[in-house]
Amino acid sequence: MQQLVFATNNAHKLEEVQAKAGDKIKLLSLNDINCCDDIEETGLTFNENASIKSRYIFERYHLNCFGDDSGLEIDALNNEPGIYSARYAGIHGNHEANMDKVLEKLAGNDNRRARFRTVISLIWNGEEYFFEGVVPGSIRTQRSGSAGFGYDPIFQPDGYDITFAEMSMAEKNSISHRGRAVDELIAFLNTQN
Ligand code: IMP
Repeated sequence: MQQLVFATNNAHKLEEVQAKAGDKIKLLSLNDINCCDDIEETGLTFNENASIKSRYIFERYHLNCFGDDSGLEIDALNNEPGIYSARYAGIHGNHEANMDKVLEKLAGNDNRRARFRTVISLIWNGEEYFFEGVVPGSIRTQRSGSAGFGYDPIFQPDGYDITFAEMSMAEKNSISHRGRAVDELIAFLNTQN
């Protein structure tokens, strides 16, 4: 069985991608390869940040690997929060403060267009490949739902009248930016021996 390192220690993400990858590929986390380093996301684009993670692992461990980076882009805010999505309000991972900041900045604004984007950088046999997934939608004026994480309670994907936070995990994964990028990655891996 092929092994592939996913440059994350997020067990939820790992499980989600492993489920899609099936039993042809065994995914390994950073913990699995005894990498305890905090890989800093110093890039200015999703591609750069995803690449920083995959290259970090490849250069030190010489293993096939991939890294990902995701975020929310809001038209009326010049695509903010973008790569700063996790720390938009200052503190990394403070989702409530991040949502408050978005809602305040959009107060009274009719243009609520937004999208989530995920970029994956895969290093496979020494070559780098990028995969991308986007889900278009809009920003609600208030929170709705309690599932998921991050900006889910204020993001309504196009074609739905509920937010990501009102969907089951399976439903969200089937249409999400991350799910789409992972589908592209898996499709590529399925073409490899
Ligand atoms: P990451 O690159 O997947 O860690 O995502 C960075 C940040 O983007 C997260 O901390 C969230 O603020 C936001 N984000 C990414 N994906 C999602 C999602 O599926 N729902 C809500 N927020 C997300």
